[in-house]
Amino acid sequence: EQRELGRLRSKPSRTVDGVDITLYANAESREDIARAHALGAAGVGLYRTEFLFLRSDGLPDEETQFRVYRDAVLGMSGRAVTFRTLDLGADKADRAGLAVANEDNPALGVRGVRLTLAHAGVFDTQLRAILRASGYGPVRILVPMVSSREELISVRRRIRNATVALRKAGHVVAENIPLGAMIEVPAAAIAVASFADTVDFLSVGTNDLVQYLLAADRNNEALSTLYSPLHPGVLRLLRHVVRSAAEADTPVAVCGEIAGDPLMTPLLLALGITELSLHPATLLEVRRCIRESDLSVLGARLDTLLKARDRAGIERWLTGRGKA
Ligand code: PEP
Ligand code: MG
Repeated sequence: EQRELGRLRSKPSRTVDGVDITLYANAESREDIARAHALGAAGVGLYRTEFLFLRSDGLPDEETQFRVYRDAVLGMSGRAVTFRTLDLGADKADRAGLAVANEDNPALGVRGVRLTLAHAGVFDTQLRAILRASGYGPVRILVPMVSSREELISVRRRIRNATVALRKAGHVVAENIPLGAMIEVPAAAIAVASFADTVDFLSVGTNDLVQYLLAADRNNEALSTLYSPLHPGVLRLLRHVVRSAAEADTPVAVCGEIAGDPLMTPLLLALGITELSLHPATLLEVRRCIRESDLSVLGARLDTLLKARDRAGIERWLTGRGKA
């Protein structure tokens, strides 16, 4: 079984009916980058930068961040690395002391892009480090917890200003670095069409989207049954995001944990998702599942999936896969 999986390293992530699915890796360490590269990931679709801010006692300076980002870019030798800007909040151990202390609802508080826009100096330092890394290979920038187009316009402005300043100082910064938004706030998922023109790509963070959609804390053990993507509301919203993104001609990926669960692969493919970003640990298993899937068969079963009325119905759909 391991040897059979190993052979998939050099195989395309292509369905039975010949559609290529893009498999990006999620990464946050050198080891992840090395594995992503070795497994033939199309790039890094989600590079979580928080670890730099959680491990050190103070804030990491531009030079420290630059070296880490540059090494990630070099490690992927020409395949794009998608850097997610700092996604800190009071829900994460915040040694840098940036988050607002004592928020009643940290998951609904000043986190993600809300936090970075409130700390312009910290944000600009990170952006400069990422932009400098773009001189060493393809880079994309992904913004977490987006809820409005104003946030994206502000981020774009900061990127533009940082680029001008860096070039003036003699640094090489790539042209037209793609900017993306994470879709994790339900209002952003519903209203994708209202800001799709401000971004180059989208990435659905189902870990948070499911939490906010079901009003169920992703870390609360007592709600672990409720906290699940196998809910008709979640599936309908994912389908809506896929369609809105297609209408806006904007590529969309799924980068939450469900992207790395091979049991979920047929469901995501049926919903029309053609890009996934997942931890390298299960990349080959997901690739195998894709290679056994037929999109025309799954597409014909989409209606049945969207009509499922409860978790049991969705699970029945999943186990009956293969049959139209
Ligand atoms: C998500 O919310 O699905 C996601 C990928 O981001 P994180 O798990 O880091 O919040
Ligand atoms: Mg998230």
